[in-house]
Amino acid sequence: MSTEPDLPFGAVPPAPLRLHCDLEALVANWRALDRLSGAASAGAAVKADAYGAGARRVAPALLGAGCRDFFVAHWQEAAELLALVPAPALAMLHGPLTAAEAQWARATGVRPVLNSLTQVDCWLAAGGGPCHVMVDTGMNRLGLPMAALGDPRLAALEIDVLLSHLAAAEDETELNARQQERWMAARQRLPHRRASLANSAGIMLGADYHGDLTRPGLALYGGVPCAALAPHIRQVVRPEAAILQVREIAAGDTVGYNATFTATGPMRIGVIALGYADGFLRCWSGKGAARGDSGAGAVLPVLGRVSMDMTVIDLGAAPALREGDWVSLDYALPQAAELTGLSQYELLTALGRRFAR
Ligand SMILES: *Cc1c(COP(=O)(O)O)cnc(C)c1O
Repeated sequence: MSTEPDLPFGAVPPAPLRLHCDLEALVANWRALDRLSGAASAGAAVKADAYGAGARRVAPALLGAGCRDFFVAHWQEAAELLALVPAPALAMLHGPLTAAEAQWARATGVRPVLNSLTQVDCWLAAGGGPCHVMVDTGMNRLGLPMAALGDPRLAALEIDVLLSHLAAAEDETELNARQQERWMAARQRLPHRRASLANSAGIMLGADYHGDLTRPGLALYGGVPCAALAPHIRQVVRPEAAILQVREIAAGDTVGYNATFTATGPMRIGVIALGYADGFLRCWSGKGAARGDSGAGAVLPVLGRVSMDMTVIDLGAAPALREGDWVSLDYALPQAAELTGLSQYELLTALGRRFAR
């Protein structure tokens, strides 16, 4: 076992699992995306606990770098950040469904994104005030339909950001230009202070897509949705797990559930405290690898099935690793997506609650 200082009496021991989040790389990614946004400013999508990276660390780091607009999906996510980010800088994407929600937004100053005439009514009935409006330009998910833009109720709104969202910014498709044209038309119809369309990949579609504010999420956290972004984006998130046990096995021995791996010779293997309950899903079975030395060490391939709480790795290339030592998983998102068939978004947001963040 590695030698660690004693814990204070009664203190809960640290988790055998931690999520390394490189805040310097995160800030560098935001600065690159802000620069690539041209005359527009880059905001940040920090919904879903900053895509799993930990919103309470991510948001202050980005605020310190100059980011002034943060997008969450739930009121609870806004509440978590209220002490860390000025309330008007928090935009709640799903918008208010009940009077209580609209009143909470007014009381705190969190800006709701209004997505339908029902939400417009809800917001105005609660007293209104500065808000954002999402217009659906072709995704057919949340947002006011273009046909609703002439509704007289909209004239009573104090619109800060007029947003729309691209359905396929990472693809070469005519849908992008069609959505951009509708967004321009919506900007003509509704008075607003700022306009916003682009997510991470949308930033690379050029100045016509920038407006006043861009809304990257994935690329902040090291995701690369389109090749053009690759040179600008650094890896941010890396899962790390402790080695619980080291075993010696012999030729013919199998590893894990359903015995899907069979040793062809003597091997030294390690059981690490990371499983599918942590979001290291079973698609990693027999794929991918860990490394010692904070990710700088030799490749230690995953052996056999991933279990709920454990994964077995081949320690052959790292004879110095012992029980209690830590390894880092290879988690560069584009490569991990290629290997597992998961999207880069899923690879981030699946990472579970047992990680120390
Ligand atoms: C999640 C989200 C984003 C960020 O998208 P990425 O593809 O992660 O950059 C931007 N805008 C809206 C409305 C979103 O829901």
